[in-house]
Amino acid sequence: MAVITFDSKNKDSIRYIKGIGPKRAEILNRLGILTIRDLCYFFPRTYEDRSQFLPINTVTPGSQVTIRGTVLGTSVRPTRNMTLCEMVIHDKTGSITAVWFNQPYLSNKFKQGDQVILSGKAEFYQRRIQLSNPEHEIIQQGDDETVHTGRITPIYPLTEGLFQRALRTVMKEVSDHYVAREVREFMPLTIHNNLNLMDLHQALKTIHFPETFQLLEEARKRLVFDEFFLFQLSLLSKIKASQTEGSGLPIKKNIKLLSEFKQKLPFELTTEQEKVIDEIMKPLSQSIPMNRLLQGDVGSGKTVVASFFLFLAAQSKIQSALLVPTEILAEQHFHNLSPLFQKLGISSVLLTGGLSEENKVAARKKIKTGGVQIVIGTHALLQDDVSFTQLGLVIIDEQHRFGVEQRAKLLLRKPRPHLLVMTATPIPRTLGLTLYGDLDISTIETLPKGRKEIKTYWIRSEKEPDVLEYINERIINGGDQAYVLYPIIEENEKLDLLAAKKEYERLKNGPFKKLKVGLVHGRIQKKERDEVMKDFYANKIRVLVATSVIEVGVDNPNVTCMVIENAERFGLAQLHQMRGRIGRGTKESVCFLFGSPETEEGKKRLRILTKTTNGFEIAEQDLLLRGPGDFLGTQQSGIPFFNLADFSKDQELLLLARQEALKLLESDPKLSKQEHQLLLTEIEMREKHAAALP
Ligand code: ADP
Ligand code: MG
Repeated sequence: MAVITFDSKNKDSIRYIKGIGPKRAEILNRLGILTIRDLCYFFPRTYEDRSQFLPINTVTPGSQVTIRGTVLGTSVRPTRNMTLCEMVIHDKTGSITAVWFNQPYLSNKFKQGDQVILSGKAEFYQRRIQLSNPEHEIIQQGDDETVHTGRITPIYPLTEGLFQRALRTVMKEVSDHYVAREVREFMPLTIHNNLNLMDLHQALKTIHFPETFQLLEEARKRLVFDEFFLFQLSLLSKIKASQTEGSGLPIKKNIKLLSEFKQKLPFELTTEQEKVIDEIMKPLSQSIPMNRLLQGDVGSGKTVVASFFLFLAAQSKIQSALLVPTEILAEQHFHNLSPLFQKLGISSVLLTGGLSEENKVAARKKIKTGGVQIVIGTHALLQDDVSFTQLGLVIIDEQHRFGVEQRAKLLLRKPRPHLLVMTATPIPRTLGLTLYGDLDISTIETLPKGRKEIKTYWIRSEKEPDVLEYINERIINGGDQAYVLYPIIEENEKLDLLAAKKEYERLKNGPFKKLKVGLVHGRIQKKERDEVMKDFYANKIRVLVATSVIEVGVDNPNVTCMVIENAERFGLAQLHQMRGRIGRGTKESVCFLFGSPETEEGKKRLRILTKTTNGFEIAEQDLLLRGPGDFLGTQQSGIPFFNLADFSKDQELLLLARQEALKLLESDPKLSKQEHQLLLTEIEMREKHAAALP
């Protein structure tokens, strides 16, 4: 290895590594690789097994092969539009030709008698078998270690200007000479030993240049464990710290109030609803502010659970807020819940941006003076000009529609309110524990009884008239209602809106000309929208044409038919949400998807929907299709921590890591013990790295 003296300022710079230089350094920098340590953690995308040499006479066309032999000779010849470099090699069993296109310099590289290894695809060409553009490597005398062939070979992710062979050479250098210098083992000895983890240096070297697939698996296990473990520690240690700071207002558990509440409901609570109510009452009664996720599939009845806690808080003279992402949903919740609260002797108020100034002022005043206990509204209710007398509980509905910042903002309020976030976008267990590792989770597992399965069809556009006719008939003869949904993509908002309006005109004057049809979208005036929604709930409007504003929460059980246009433009979770607007009554519901996805993934998405209505299953499939990065939008932090971890395969490791992280924090909540200093440094380094990524 070349001896380089590093000046202290640049000691981390990757450009001093043999084979890099300023130009490649720049390219790597663009990939986010700034330091030598980053390079150590720049992992192969996949591996090719080039460790088994085939006897040359057994090579068959069409297969990927690795062979080892002696060079008989090379030649270069120009053809009409390129130069061909040919080389013949032989082993004990026979000989074969390798061909490279437009790489004439190769003929000087190989000399007769050289020992070489070639890996590539065998092809049948002009009545003989040859290897085209194989990866190649000359075996030096007495040196049996190869880089590119004759081994399990790493394949790195590339970018423009970066070539596999050059990069691999660099990575071999890094693995041989820098891993041990740049990276320090940080894992506490007890964990290391108890879990039988591979040593960090060995794991990093192995992940780049594995000797066997078994060792590779061991190395991967160690590095994935690290990712989960460090992320959990980073997350949990912060939460632990903030949980002991500032205390919340305890909301007393009260079984009698629960019975009183239940008496006022038009239905019985399901056992699952009872279960989560019981689960949530405990942490609410503590002075440590609660931080909990309530998940349950679309239609599982989360609202009524939420409303019980709003009531319970009010009974303890503690103000609470129900925060929802859209005005329509706020209005609907208010419309449904305020009569219930009234029956229970509690007042509530609506606060959204769309209210008239006069109403807003009145609402704010009531909140400030304590004249009202329950506030239902959009994020307008979190504005600074809204002050509460004593805000003790915040419930966020459809949490996935809010950014992390909004939750964070709430957590910083003093005194910190108890927080319950609700989502109908079920999160696969692994991802939930990862992204919401700071939240405790309650889950409503089943839907209320009597729900009919929703039938879902993915239909060719030529069949549209038949579908619309079928719906028309159900509405006229059965008294049903329908949604027709159009996607609005933000970048395209104007055009999309235009399209939706045009379609509305077409439906109103064509297929549904006997019916009253309504239109709602995000840009509509509040007054007009109120009218439309009122008529829709009253079954005067029979078909509601809508953009995705309908996606969240709208609850009209009489609607049994849904058409989703351009379904390929929506994500799986979103489609599932939209479909959840039907199937809420006792009649059978149908959902028709129109759309022609261009990608295989897009097709799979629609197919999944036709096969299942189970949100948890859909979430798992979604995760498999898209990976965690896309899953909850880019706002969700945490993803940059994960390089190797596979959220569907590595569940066990995640649970193990979480358990170990919790155990460790139990004994050393601030990681202040001497033996945890390296661990702390490692966490900080990864946090910094994650924050710096685009
Ligand atoms: P989500 O969990 O999607 O927010 P909602 O709270 O909107 O679901 O509930 C969906 C529908 O189910 C509502 O019409 C609600 O009144 C009804 N519902 C809730 N709980 C029950 C129950 N225990 N029995 C019957 N219907 C219920
Ligand atoms: Mg809801």
